[in-house]
Amino acid sequence: MKRKGILIVVSGFSGAGKGTLMKQLVHSYENYALSVSMTTRNPRPGEEEGKEYFFVTREEFEEKIRQDGLVEYACYCDNYYGTPREYVEKQLEKGKDVILEIEIQGALKIKEKFPTALLMFVMPPSVSELRKRLEGRGTESPEAIAKRLKRAAEEAEGIEEYDFIVINDKLEECAASMHGLIQAAHNAPVRNEELIENMRKELEAIC
Ligand code: 5GP
Repeated sequence: MKRKGILIVVSGFSGAGKGTLMKQLVHSYENYALSVSMTTRNPRPGEEEGKEYFFVTREEFEEKIRQDGLVEYACYCDNYYGTPREYVEKQLEKGKDVILEIEIQGALKIKEKFPTALLMFVMPPSVSELRKRLEGRGTESPEAIAKRLKRAAEEAEGIEEYDFIVINDKLEECAASMHGLIQAAHNAPVRNEELIENMRKELEAIC
């Protein structure tokens, strides 16, 4: 039986290193597809259209919402962010595990719409490390950094909604541990209803 793909939601405080971690995971292991979100925020230096994000205007984003072209969307620090529907559905059909790197409001919407989605929360090793990473990025103003740290405190309130936390200390080790958790999650009964049902039917038939 062909293994079905699952939706994997990855959240974490801004600066926790989710982006690098996801690239490492996709690079090191097979069968993952990384969804590229749409946003109204400006590109950071080095970010490319269609690679980190699809950068659009507010009007374009709102049009996409009207067309029901997003699986979920949220407002984060004054900008819209959303997950385009088409890519996610196509990759799941192909049997890929699709990763959505999104913030907590979006994560909770996904959990509601897709109860078998796997929710993972990436934490930095410490708060001082988080601040260091945000400042070290050198792309945000002190005000923007303060806003993101305040948002981190709010997001910390929702961590219990997630299935697993992963501490992003050493990149390769963290990617390996995430991969292990995802593989284990594939074997949860909730993600194998068809297999269980078929086995029950076969057993009933011989009793
Ligand atoms: P950043 O501006 O640092 O790239 O992203 C800000 C936050 O928005 C991060 O927590 C990131 O995970 C989240 N984000 C990125 N894409 C999406 C999306 O499509 N939907 C939602 N809900 N959040 C997103």
